[in-house]
Amino acid sequence: MIIEMKTGASRAEVDSVVQKAKSLGLGVQLNLGTDKTVVALLGGHTGQLATDLFAVLPGVESVTRIMKPYKLSSREVKKQNTTVNVGGVEIGGNKFVVMAGPCAVESETQLMEAARIVKAAGATILRGGAFKPRTSPFSFQGLEEVGLALLARVREEIGLPVVTEVVDSHEVAIVAKSADILQVGSRNMQNYTLLTSIGKSKWPVVLKRGFSCTVTEWLTAADYLLAEGNNNVILCERGIRTFEDTTRFSLDIGAIPVIKKASHLPVIVDPSHAAGHHDLVPALAKAAVAAGADGLLIEVHPNPAEALVDGLQSLNPVEFARLMEELRPIARAVGRTI
Ligand code: PEP
Ligand code: MN
Repeated sequence: MIIEMKTGASRAEVDSVVQKAKSLGLGVQLNLGTDKTVVALLGGHTGQLATDLFAVLPGVESVTRIMKPYKLSSREVKKQNTTVNVGGVEIGGNKFVVMAGPCAVESETQLMEAARIVKAAGATILRGGAFKPRTSPFSFQGLEEVGLALLARVREEIGLPVVTEVVDSHEVAIVAKSADILQVGSRNMQNYTLLTSIGKSKWPVVLKRGFSCTVTEWLTAADYLLAEGNNNVILCERGIRTFEDTTRFSLDIGAIPVIKKASHLPVIVDPSHAAGHHDLVPALAKAAVAAGADGLLIEVHPNPAEALVDGLQSLNPVEFARLMEELRPIARAVGRTI
């Protein structure tokens, strides 16, 4: 952390910064310039310290963080890639993983049909929301416990591991009974009580990026899971809010290589919520593979015209099968298999 003192700051003001740093167990390097004094704070945990601790002191002009606020998710802490194993599927390894299925679980027939379709086309994990955090409280909120029971039944019957969203910290254990991977939705990325509960459960988890959050905030949120000893963390880029409105969200493809450099965690991409329209999904999915993602989370519905949620962005069975074939050569080109 670098503290720039105001021009003309008194020696007593500089001393109070130094005293504060020492009381926090930090080392101090003083640069007494002719106009300005700069104080560099040294210590392993400066990334986790609030800049306000120093910004409030008299005579301080600015406080700049040098260390990243996230720690456990960073490559500095762990050099080798993390892989997450669920029901025989490895996420983050050489094989590219496709998770697919409907936005929401609607009925046994719909889920069973979706599962058969995505499995036949080569997906290895089934998605489907039982709890749906919707923008409006008057929209369909999911089948909840009934949806969980359907997921468990279809998992048994079709033999695909399941990923589904959990929205409440008190429901982690019940959702985990029917799910191989818990999903934290974009709106809950910074729900720290929920993250801590999932962290304690040690259950595999997909942490979706908050649509208004930076990569640094995302990795710092991942630290909440890792700090509880849950190492089964998968990140999911799903588009962020920008001024652009021709897609539902702006898929941040750049975040994939950024994450790969900054973190050891696997990263997958949800092109469906970014696109908002099924026509746009294949191009975004292909871009994700090419950019080095470890997998995809795609919405597929047996009959999108009848979907209760997100029908416009859901691929139909033919579109999904075609996309899977189109992804294979791209995966090969970047040294992966599907
Ligand atoms: C979803 O995956 O169905 C979903 C609601 O996604 P997000 O949290 O990214 O909006
Ligand atoms: Mn959806």
